[in-house]
Amino acid sequence: RAKEEGKNHYKWFDGTEEAGAAELMELRNGLRRALERGEFELHYQPQIEAASGRLTGLEALLRWNHPRFGQVSPQKFIPLAEETGLIVEIGAWALREACAQNKAWQDAGAAGLRIAVNLSARQFAAPDLVGTVRRVLEDTGLDPSCLELEITENMAMRNENLATLEQLRDMGILLSIDDFGTQHSSLSYLKRLPVGRIKIDRSFVSGIGVDERDEAIIHAMLLIARRLKLSVVAEGVESDLQLSYLLEHDCDEIQGYLFFRPQSAEQTGEVLRRIRHRPSAPRKTGSERA
Ligand code: C2E
Ligand code: MG
Ligand code: MG
Ligand code: MG
Repeated sequence: RAKEEGKNHYKWFDGTEEAGAAELMELRNGLRRALERGEFELHYQPQIEAASGRLTGLEALLRWNHPRFGQVSPQKFIPLAEETGLIVEIGAWALREACAQNKAWQDAGAAGLRIAVNLSARQFAAPDLVGTVRRVLEDTGLDPSCLELEITENMAMRNENLATLEQLRDMGILLSIDDFGTQHSSLSYLKRLPVGRIKIDRSFVSGIGVDERDEAIIHAMLLIARRLKLSVVAEGVESDLQLSYLLEHDCDEIQGYLFFRPQSAEQTGEVLRRIRHRPSAPRKTGSERA
């Protein structure tokens, strides 16, 4: 089955090579219980508008508080959840939780705040993704324009997903391509698909100031995105050098440890309150750099 899943199986080994078979089995068997007992939690990482320094959105990132192993990385358990199919339910939970939380923050004063939620290929294959998303938006009262759904190139490239993507876009949801440039894809899909933005993968960003080839790729991505009227987020921005390169080349938004690490809902709420009570744009501070 590894072959069929292409890139996916690769990640599977990447994320789990240190885990023993027994640990893996325990994690795999624990997923349903985790869902039932509320062991999953979302952390949130701010996205900062490069030109203004304004916090415009948050990416919701799953965490598993495992009773025996402590906090388990999504890189480890998401492949297991995909394998067992439980990612469909876990993903639906994450979507609902993220939308409800964002609505609560909006109601508390963070008007227009956007929330980005990662989707898995399995959620497209499951029946009625569009219905699930529509119900979550209705139930939580979140405006569709404040929801962003992140998909990967492989998901975007599948013809059978096109109708679903178009329906989501027609609802007013922002679709973005995560880890842009790291999977199998052709650039032609960028003109074909109802996608509004791309997220430049951290593997390119980390080459800024180190490898001219990474800079060339980022530069080209930004030019193409601009011409196609797509917005761009750079992921994994950790240094001032990376930030200044991205600013210089008109990258729209920045996400990375330089500004904020992913944090709990409580800590994120604190950040949002602090920003509101500050007249100027958010700047990075010692505590936020964690
Ligand atoms: P992703 O969607 O590409 O998320 C970005 C990852 O980069 C996150 O890892 C984030 O914590 C990390 N990151 C952000 N800024 C920096 C930085 O400056 N430096 C470094 N070194 N890392 C940074 P995380 O939280 O471990 O998540 C890993 C992956 O798990 C995500 O990659 C995503 O593919 C998947 N994932 C997380 N939550 C969900 C979910 O709710 N559903 C699905 N299907 N996948 C999820
Ligand atoms: Mg993502
Ligand atoms: Mg990414
Ligand atoms: Mg990813």
